[in-house]
Amino acid sequence: AEEVGGGDKEVVREYFNSTGFERWRKIYGETDEVNRVQKDIRLGHAKTVENAMLMLTEEGSLAGVTVCDAGCGTGLLSIPLAKEGAIVSASDISAAMVAEAEMKAKQQLPEENLPRFEVNDLESLSGKYNTVVCLDVLIHYPQNKADGMIAHLASLAEKRVILSFAPKTFYYDILKRIGELFPGPSKATRAYLHSEADVERALRKVGWKISKRGLTTTQFYFSRLIEAVPM
Ligand code: SAM
Repeated sequence: AEEVGGGDKEVVREYFNSTGFERWRKIYGETDEVNRVQKDIRLGHAKTVENAMLMLTEEGSLAGVTVCDAGCGTGLLSIPLAKEGAIVSASDISAAMVAEAEMKAKQQLPEENLPRFEVNDLESLSGKYNTVVCLDVLIHYPQNKADGMIAHLASLAEKRVILSFAPKTFYYDILKRIGELFPGPSKATRAYLHSEADVERALRKVGWKISKRGLTTTQFYFSRLIEAVPM
């Protein structure tokens, strides 16, 4: 069933191939062409990536471990994963994002360690991976689509799923951020917050439980990070 008004996903794809791509390429980049708020979001997101890498390496080396990075964006997680020796499958609904990620990966990694890049929405991903990671993508999913999305990610994973999302507890603070995330005409691209209890319930329904929790907050950035494992 489509969303009311038709195709949230199409709107997201279109956004991240156009204005959203330009905006997020800057935020996720290194240059100074960002304002104070964008700089803060860049910092917050970098902390999420760092925390995810800590969770990922805590259980042992990533060498030879298969990792699916669903909604990889510009590759900010895929690249450090590959540097640790993981066999990375990186995909994103936006062709522009995937092209940017691939370009950056080629600058930083030797040919044999390059992630396998693919333009694909995460519902169309198949196969089995030791670990599935999905950072800051759930914000594009309304609650009625989130359960299915989480179930699908879990179905791709053998050992663990690592997921980050904007937590509902920070509702009022995040309103400020949402204005910053989707300014102007592209405000049509909605941002959805999720309660930790809802995410936990969605995981439990398919036989997974939360095993680790983290939280990243800066002034304008809030992200709950969880690791889930089979029950
Ligand atoms: N995970 C990356 C990171 O943390 O650096 C990027 C996060 S960015 C806020 C969200 C990304 O999710 C965008 O690149 C967008 O194109 C992608 N995305 C949104 N909906 C998607 C879907 N249904 N399937 C795959 N990717 C999706």
